[in-house]
Amino acid sequence: MTNTHCPYCSLQCGMTLEAARRSALAVAPWPEFPVNQGALCRKGWTATGLRGSRERLTTPLVRDRATGALRAAGWDEALDLVADRMGALRRDHGPDSVAVFGGGGLTNEKAYALGKFARVVLGTSQVDYNGRWCMSSAASASNRAFGIDRGLPFPLADVEATDVLVLVGSNLVETMPPAARHLDRLRERGGKVVVIDPRRTPTAERADVAVQPVPGTDLALALGLLHLIDAAGAVDEEYVATRTTGFDDVRRSVATWWPERVERVTGVSAAELRDLADLLGGAGSVMVLTARGAEQHSTGTDTVSAWINVALALGMCGKPGAGYGCLTGQGNGQGGREHGQKADQLPGYRLIEDPAARDHVAAVWGVEPASLPGRGRSAYELLDALGSDGGPRALLVHGSNVVVSAPNATHVAERLAALDLLVVADLVMSETAALADVVLPVTEWAEETGTMTNLEGRVILRERAVRPPAGVRTDLEVLAALADRLGCPDTIGTDSESVFAELGRASAGGVADYAGIDYDRIRAEHGVFWPCPTPDHPGTPRLFTDRFGTPDGRARCVLVEHRGPAEATCDEYPVHLTTGRVLAQYQSGAQTRRVRELPDDGPFVELHPLLADRIGARDGDPVVVATRRGELKAPARVVDTIRPDTVFVPFHWVGANRLTNDALDPTSRMPEFKACAARISTARDSGRAEVLQAESPRVTTPACSVTPLVEVVPTGSTHDLETPLVGAAP
Ligand code: SF4
Repeated sequence: MTNTHCPYCSLQCGMTLEAARRSALAVAPWPEFPVNQGALCRKGWTATGLRGSRERLTTPLVRDRATGALRAAGWDEALDLVADRMGALRRDHGPDSVAVFGGGGLTNEKAYALGKFARVVLGTSQVDYNGRWCMSSAASASNRAFGIDRGLPFPLADVEATDVLVLVGSNLVETMPPAARHLDRLRERGGKVVVIDPRRTPTAERADVAVQPVPGTDLALALGLLHLIDAAGAVDEEYVATRTTGFDDVRRSVATWWPERVERVTGVSAAELRDLADLLGGAGSVMVLTARGAEQHSTGTDTVSAWINVALALGMCGKPGAGYGCLTGQGNGQGGREHGQKADQLPGYRLIEDPAARDHVAAVWGVEPASLPGRGRSAYELLDALGSDGGPRALLVHGSNVVVSAPNATHVAERLAALDLLVVADLVMSETAALADVVLPVTEWAEETGTMTNLEGRVILRERAVRPPAGVRTDLEVLAALADRLGCPDTIGTDSESVFAELGRASAGGVADYAGIDYDRIRAEHGVFWPCPTPDHPGTPRLFTDRFGTPDGRARCVLVEHRGPAEATCDEYPVHLTTGRVLAQYQSGAQTRRVRELPDDGPFVELHPLLADRIGARDGDPVVVATRRGELKAPARVVDTIRPDTVFVPFHWVGANRLTNDALDPTSRMPEFKACAARISTARDSGRAEVLQAESPRVTTPACSVTPLVEVVPTGSTHDLETPLVGAAP
């Protein structure tokens, strides 16, 4: 029996794995692990479903020049080919001609090794990862407000102790079901749950208050709430004066956000807004948690800042059972952004352009600080530059399926096709691996040991429970073998515990300091919260109790303004498209779509009965959603839980991200997955017969990007849908 953790989301539920018949593994509860206390969602219960599957890759594949098809190859042939071609590109075009792309599901050890491989072995600045598309806006906002970015600055169980919990853009009940018990316990105590989401999700069904704003207007909603909280005299003046800076400017800026203006922009009625402000202003403790719904916007960082301002004005951050936090998404969404696979970072959450950080990490790595490259392109910008003049000509991908998960995915596939060399390390033939020149089969979670950092900043240990299939290597072994061939032997370790110890030394003194954590301690303590600088340090479950991580110890209230989505609705594209998850699938679905026990009904288009009537569609009819980037045909799912001006598509299947907008947040470089302009019709009317690839050329300057000054419809309205519904007015 092995105690370990689920391979999927950031809750990192504890589970026990037991040997079953033949080489199968059975999942059993691990009740002592405090985060989930034995509970798992259906993804967790079926997480061993790929074990022994024919879908597992067990031999390297290289693309045959004569036939263009992938064929089996030996490890030496595949690794020699990759190293030779990367070496030649570096010689001929410089180190930045080779890029590396990581993932938020990689262990801390892999994320660390990938960053070191890029900077030391390849000498490239071109390294980033898919977590840039997940939590980066919350990370940017937390850094600028608090000086530290840790998803939750308190244990998740603190949720039960608050009086009012505000979930902004989180469908926690569906995305991490074991966490839903905290909501129930909070309400049993008499606390209130508020959910802000354009859809009335299963989470909203379990809330006391559900507010359904127009996609992309959460920022305006927060400004309007702060306006009312201030007008009611509910600002904690002493807290603001002693623990924050910048509040006076923010207070002045929200003075013009009176409720009727907020209603016009967000579609949330002035009465709903007043009730919500009264609830927050009168509560003893308030906790605001954001997730992707609030963050995956071109205004994501400012949106999160606006909600942090609300929490600070109420005097909540650093107070027990209160404050602000981000519910991270991917399994190692937290640790994956701390140890060096980001374009602008070195291990320990250090900035790569900080001379002291470069000195420290270079000393641990045994290289000259000047040899380390500077910051590179962010994830989408990196993909956008592939194969272009001055862009990377080779890409090494670990733990990411960008063809499905990137915005404007058709364009991304085109950029991949323009490369001289695409190498993908994966456990199954993902849509991205299928395009590669070389595919390297790697171990899955239960076949290797490594640490993850969950949404609370708790560093936990995934233990190897079973031998990998013959022919498969770990990601660390792949990187070490490539480093060897590229002239840097012994640069990348293959023993994860030794790599973690090195990571600890590299992180020492940094914001995310892991120096006092080791595997035995994690086992004994059910995880250790960072920062933990020494072996005798207890770890830090709660941040900000006395001071924030800024130089003066005060939180920054940041002045922000509503801008709305980069792409407004218009006559041609009159509805809002938003994307999200379903319970049985995880991220790009590369793993979960292959687990037989999990239902896989494919994508669907959720729309309101009023909108369905207008286009003549019934539940189950094929409908086509089109944006300026592409089209998707899928069955209609007609529900009255979504705004009449909005359609929803889950992103786990090929197609959804062919529609989404690649407009980036200027600070976090987060793409705008959650809001773009679309039109919808029945497949009959559109003349389409199958799921379509984008056929229209990429449009960089929308033909109708001017935001119409027309009121949006308050939630629940029976607006005449013959009148096009339009987006937010500034
Ligand atoms: S997917 Fe998330 S919520 Fe479900 S079992 Fe795994 S870690 Fe827990």
